[in-house]
Amino acid sequence: MTSLSRERLYLGGAWVPPDSAERIEVENPYTEEVIGHVPAGTAEDVNLAVSAARQAFDDWAGLAAAERGAALDRLHGALATRAGEIARVVGLELGTPLKIAQVVQAGLPLTVLRGYADLAAAGTAEETIGNSLIAREPIGVVGAITPWNYPLHQVVAKVGAALAAGCTVVLKPSELTPLVAYLLADAAEEAGLPAGVLNIVTGTGAVVGAAIAGHPNVDMVSFTGSTATGRAISHAAADRIAKVSLELGGKSANVILEDADLAKAVKVGVGNAFLNSGQTCTAWTRMLVHRSVYDEAVELAAKTASGYTLGDPFDAGTRLGPLASATQRDRVRGFVERAQGRLVAGGPDAPLPATGHFVAATVFADVHPDSELAQEEIFGPVLSIIPFGDDDEAVTIANNSKYGLAGAVWGGDEHALAVARRIRTGAVDVNGGSFNPFAPFGGYKQSGIGRELGRYGLEEFQQVKAIQR
Ligand code: NAD
Repeated sequence: MTSLSRERLYLGGAWVPPDSAERIEVENPYTEEVIGHVPAGTAEDVNLAVSAARQAFDDWAGLAAAERGAALDRLHGALATRAGEIARVVGLELGTPLKIAQVVQAGLPLTVLRGYADLAAAGTAEETIGNSLIAREPIGVVGAITPWNYPLHQVVAKVGAALAAGCTVVLKPSELTPLVAYLLADAAEEAGLPAGVLNIVTGTGAVVGAAIAGHPNVDMVSFTGSTATGRAISHAAADRIAKVSLELGGKSANVILEDADLAKAVKVGVGNAFLNSGQTCTAWTRMLVHRSVYDEAVELAAKTASGYTLGDPFDAGTRLGPLASATQRDRVRGFVERAQGRLVAGGPDAPLPATGHFVAATVFADVHPDSELAQEEIFGPVLSIIPFGDDDEAVTIANNSKYGLAGAVWGGDEHALAVARRIRTGAVDVNGGSFNPFAPFGGYKQSGIGRELGRYGLEEFQQVKAIQR
């Protein structure tokens, strides 16, 4: 296999040698072999990237909407020609099964970027309130810090929106999955994106991430990842009153009412909980089921989970890939070993492939709503099933979480919609309503601040100015 290693950083429109000779090795979580390395960036690399972004800002912000739209259209085109490579690289560095990677790891970010090219071209209309003209202006230099679970989607959700708004960007991708970000840099170069508009510094969170979050010339930090890191970034940005937007964890409830299509609700619910081996912030990891259909739901969920094939992400039959790293696997196994529910599928002793950071598709029934299993974001293929007696109890359990990211309700259409309105989360899917990549995405409570995707995502990167006449 040709090496996936990268020796340079993409700064100011050029491939620049890093400040330090230190490298970060990238592991294939299925074979457990090193597949390449990238530079371990430093604070000095971040300084260069921020200077380049600052220098590029006025021209990029000043472009006419049609020109910025055309540049993003070229970026989308260059990235689209790499769709196959994106799915392959994410399969290698993260372990997402290829068939799923093609749709969610490659297809979704392309759809999102297409949308941002269109929004950039349309421009932002000014508004009049009395004697005031209300203008929206780009916020400035954006620091984007992203995780590994949807490594290109999370990058594009920030970079696409920020660039469309007229901001320039310094991106730090996750050190677990930095290789796919290089494909975006390749596309930016091919598309002739102006120098300094997009800069990429690979490295660790403690060094590069912290340098971006605390940099005096970064006007806004957009972060996706754990709540603990989000808190640290907020503190760093608070010192200079810089804006942050945070997409953090979740512990979403899938509420199955007594009048739901049970078979569909359970099957789709298990699929959602285990998508990307459960490494999805919106995963419906708590299945709440009305007592009248509870036993049947537990049986169906256990049967569905037991049918999930674990294995090589590049085998067509694989439904569940490995977890992203040995650390993640050990963390998830810890939750499974400490779990207090009734194990009905998978578990610590289930058979696993010979190599790879696997955890079996695991289902616990009779989970207490206050237990660790029902409260903490596990980020692995572990589903908790919890019974409820009526709508009020279902809503109380669903809202009994420090998180508030997503969720689902299944039942008669009006009944399910009424329950969905009572759930304190940024999104709720009713009766299998599909993910909308242009609808606002983000969390209540400790799931975050701000929204990504579509027009709402773009507006996060704008300031609002009132001009009185
Ligand atoms: P993390 O929050 O540590 O890492 C996310 C990004 O932040 C990475 O790019 C990392 O390098 C960077 N980072 C880390 N420390 C930083 C710091 N002090 N300053 C600035 N940047 C920093 O997440 P993780 O360790 O990759 O995963 C841990 C847990 O986070 C997971 O088990 C999961 O529960 C949660 N998580 C949530 C999401 C989500 O989409 N909500 C995504 C990934 C992980």
